[in-house]
Amino acid sequence: MDFSFTAGQEALRRDVRSFLEDEVRAGRWKPQCDAWIQGFDPSFTKRVASRGWIGLMWPKEYGGHERGFVDRLVVTEEMLRYGAPAALHWFADRQIGGSILRFGSDAQKNEFLPRIVRGEIYVGLGMSEPEAGSDLASLKTRAEEQDDCFIVNGQKTWTSGGSYVNYIDLFARTDFEAVKHKGITEFLVPMDLPGISRIPMTDITGTEAWNDIFFDNVRVPKECVIGERNKGFYHVVEELAYERGGMERLMGNYPLYDALKRFVRETKKDGRALIEDTHVRRLMAELEVEFEVGRLLMYRAAAVMDEGRPPTVEASTSKVYGTNFEQRLANLAMDLLGPYGPLTEDSPLAAMDGLAVHSYLASKGYSLQAGSTEVLKNIIATRGLGLK
Ligand SMILES: Cc1cc2nc3c(=O)[nH]c(=O)nc-3n(C[C@H](O)[C@H](O)[C@H](O)COP(=O)(O)OP(=O)(O)OC[C@H]3O[C@@H](n4cnc5c(N)ncnc54)[C@H](O)[C@@H]3O)c2cc1C
Repeated sequence: MDFSFTAGQEALRRDVRSFLEDEVRAGRWKPQCDAWIQGFDPSFTKRVASRGWIGLMWPKEYGGHERGFVDRLVVTEEMLRYGAPAALHWFADRQIGGSILRFGSDAQKNEFLPRIVRGEIYVGLGMSEPEAGSDLASLKTRAEEQDDCFIVNGQKTWTSGGSYVNYIDLFARTDFEAVKHKGITEFLVPMDLPGISRIPMTDITGTEAWNDIFFDNVRVPKECVIGERNKGFYHVVEELAYERGGMERLMGNYPLYDALKRFVRETKKDGRALIEDTHVRRLMAELEVEFEVGRLLMYRAAAVMDEGRPPTVEASTSKVYGTNFEQRLANLAMDLLGPYGPLTEDSPLAAMDGLAVHSYLASKGYSLQAGSTEVLKNIIATRGLGLK
């Protein structure tokens, strides 16, 4: 496989970098870990949109540029490298727009895709429920058909960006007799419908980037159904491959990685830079090799998508690998900082802007979100290696 970038991709990378350099230099935001999922900034999303970097791959008639998955990965890689606050448009750009394009009606494509491209629609993922995570097909939220709408009742949990989104990509049960994965339908639901309420969830880092979302007799118009009724589980399986195969699984903590590399060069112990210590040097070298391997795995998943094949196994592999890398990175940063590790940004003694403790705590969830490591290993074993 040829991993060299085309001239167009190199030019795109330069454009995105120079845009992000200007943004940071102008002090518009500060690079943060997890900003792809926790950095909510409508004006940044608008500026990215005006550059044409949302919906990059979609047909021109909907505002896209008909470029490939590798091109998009170049853009997201740079967003992550700079820790840019891209959370508002990330999900619609990564998977919901693709689902509308693949399964939606012409009316839905015309209505939603240009608005996503313009940075006006922010979509949350309404899949998981308190008793349906890995076994998503057992979800209980009900959508019962009545006249011109569906009456929706139930609860979604862990909805990323739930406090900020104006739409939710909802998976609800519409056939109550069918086997569980055959009775689920996908809906794109405006969050301002009466009966929808949200409660922020505070995670171990103190972040409120997630929500429980409740549906209490919500009248969801039939036009909100995406694709065929009762085919939602098949949609979600496809969408999850895109969710898992992205660079965010490797580079969500890139600002920490960058800071760690500076830290071992600039911090002295017994008169020598930490990086001169053979043990630290070996650990940093291992990390760098792992990072580069992870990058190749991400590009491999994108190349498979560009070939039009579902990247189920490749995306599962890269997600497991990337998650492990991020957890090792956070652990190493904490080890090297010793007692200073738990200090947050507001402490005058904090090193690396206090990024390490955030990543250390947040990274526990990385091997759960978008499919747990154990479940992904099952997919790699059965679908990839053909094990029974
Ligand atoms: C930070 C974060 C953000 C998230 N964002 C969203 C979001 O935006 N939208 C959304 O819908 N969901 C979101 N989720 C939910 C996420 O998808 C679920 O947490 C995940 O699918 C696991 O489900 P669960 O938490 O119910 O754990 P469970 O499914 O109950 O799993 C518990 C444990 O059992 C193991 N396990 C389960 N089944 C198997 C099996 N068959 N074989 C081996 N081991 C197994 C798992 O690996 C795990 O260790 C998010 C989660 C987190 C932590």
